[in-house]
Amino acid sequence: MQTLKEQIKQAGVVGAGGAGFPTHIKLAEHIETVLVNATECEPLLKTDFYLLKEESSRLENALAKLVEIVGAKEGVIGIKNHTAELLGMETPKQVSNQVSYRFTGNVYPSGDEIILIQDVLGKSVPGGQLPISVGVVVVNAETLFNIANAMEGKAVTHKYLTVAGKTDRTYVIKVAIGTPVSYVFESLGITVPKDCSVLEGGPMMGSIINPNTAVVTKTTKSLLIIENHTLCIRLKTQKLSDSLSRSSGNCCGCRMCTDMCPRHLMGYPIEPHKIVQRLSAKANDTKVFMGAFFCSNCGVCQTIACPQNISPNRLFQRVKAELLKNGVKNVPMEQTTPKLERAYRKVPTKRLVNRLGVRKYERDEFVYQELMPPERVTIPVKQHIGAPGDVVVQAGDKVTVGQVIVKAKENALSTNIHSSVSGIVYGVSEAAVIIAAE
Ligand code: SF4
Ligand code: SF4
Repeated sequence: MQTLKEQIKQAGVVGAGGAGFPTHIKLAEHIETVLVNATECEPLLKTDFYLLKEESSRLENALAKLVEIVGAKEGVIGIKNHTAELLGMETPKQVSNQVSYRFTGNVYPSGDEIILIQDVLGKSVPGGQLPISVGVVVVNAETLFNIANAMEGKAVTHKYLTVAGKTDRTYVIKVAIGTPVSYVFESLGITVPKDCSVLEGGPMMGSIINPNTAVVTKTTKSLLIIENHTLCIRLKTQKLSDSLSRSSGNCCGCRMCTDMCPRHLMGYPIEPHKIVQRLSAKANDTKVFMGAFFCSNCGVCQTIACPQNISPNRLFQRVKAELLKNGVKNVPMEQTTPKLERAYRKVPTKRLVNRLGVRKYERDEFVYQELMPPERVTIPVKQHIGAPGDVVVQAGDKVTVGQVIVKAKENALSTNIHSSVSGIVYGVSEAAVIIAAE
C-alpha cells in the first residue's frame, strides 16, 4: 500500500469532485469498501457520465487493483438510476467478485458521501466522523481515473470538465490545468451573454467566477453559463446581511428547513429552524448552534424548503466560523440512526432543476472535445486542501509536460503540482507558475 500511496502523492492526485483533498492521505488501514462516487448529483454535469461511458474498463480495472492493494473486500461504483438507464444498465452490474455497480435514486444530494454510503452500502456514518469509521473510503470517478494514471506513473496534468448552460450544446472537455477559462470559451466559440453569470461547480454548490481571470484547476468540475434572473444565481448573489435580516423578520417557524434537511434526516443533531430562530432572537445557544457543524452546505434548506427565501445554510457558515473562533469544537457521535421519514423526503432532481430555473439547460447528449493547450497556462500553487507545496522552478527554466513544478511539503497535508504543458517558465509568484507553451 505504501508504494501506491507514494505513486498517488507523486502524481499529485487530489479529489477531483470539488474539495481537492489529497487522495494518498485517504488510503488508510482497515478499508472494507472502496466506494466510487459517480452520482454527479448536481444538475447539468456530465463529466462522470463521460468517464463511465468511454473509460469504464479503465475505471473498473483500476478499482479492482485498488481494492486488492488496500486489502478491501469490495469496490462499488455508485451511479444514479438515470445514469444507469443512459448506460443501458438495467440492473446493478457485477463486474467481478470484487467490483460492482450499485444504483441510487435520481435525487439530490445523492453525491454527498455520507448519503451515498447510506443509500448504496446501507451503512450509517456517525455524525462528525469520517467514512473510514465504517470501513469505507470514497473517491470520485475522475479521481479514480487519475489513480489509474498514477499507477502507470502519469501525473495529473489535465482536467475533464462540463461546459453547459446557455450554450448551443453541452460539452465535456479535456483541458490542460492552468488554461484560462476565457480560452476555454473562445475555443468552443462561446460568448458569455451579458445577462448571465459563470459558475464553477454545480448550480447548487458552485460559485460565481470571473471568466476573464479564472483558470482551470485540478478541482474545476464544470463551467456553467446561467442567466442572472434564475433562482440559482439570485441565491448566490444575495448578501449575507440580507439573509440575516430576512431571518429575523420573516422566519415563520414552519420547520420545513429541518424536515427536509438531508443531514437531519440522517439522524444528525442539526435542526436548522432552531438555529435560525436563535439567530433572529440574538440568543446565545451553543448547544443548538453546534448543529451547524453537521451542515454539508447542500443548500436544500434555502432552495427547496424555506417558503420565506431565507438561506439557513449561508447563516450556518458564519455560525460555524464563530464557534471555531471561540474554541468550540464539534463532538463526533458514536452512532447514528437515519430517520424513517428520510425515504420520502428526498429531493427529486427534476424538482430541483425546475426550482433553480435551469431545466432548459438539462441535456442528456453532449459533445466531447480535447482542447489544444493555450499559449500560456497559469498554474495555481494552491489547488488542494492543506499546505501548498514549494515552487521548484524559476523564470526561464525549460519544463516538460508532467514535470514537478510545485513540490509537496514533507510531513504535511500536501501534494505535488506538475506542468501541464512543455515550454518555458514565463513567471513565478507565490500564487502561480506561468508557463509559455512550446
Ligand atoms: S445546507 Fe441546509 S439542508 Fe443542507 S445540510 Fe445544511 S442545513 Fe441541512
Ligand atoms: S423553512 Fe424558513 S421560515 Fe420555515 S423555519 Fe426554516 S428558516 Fe424559518
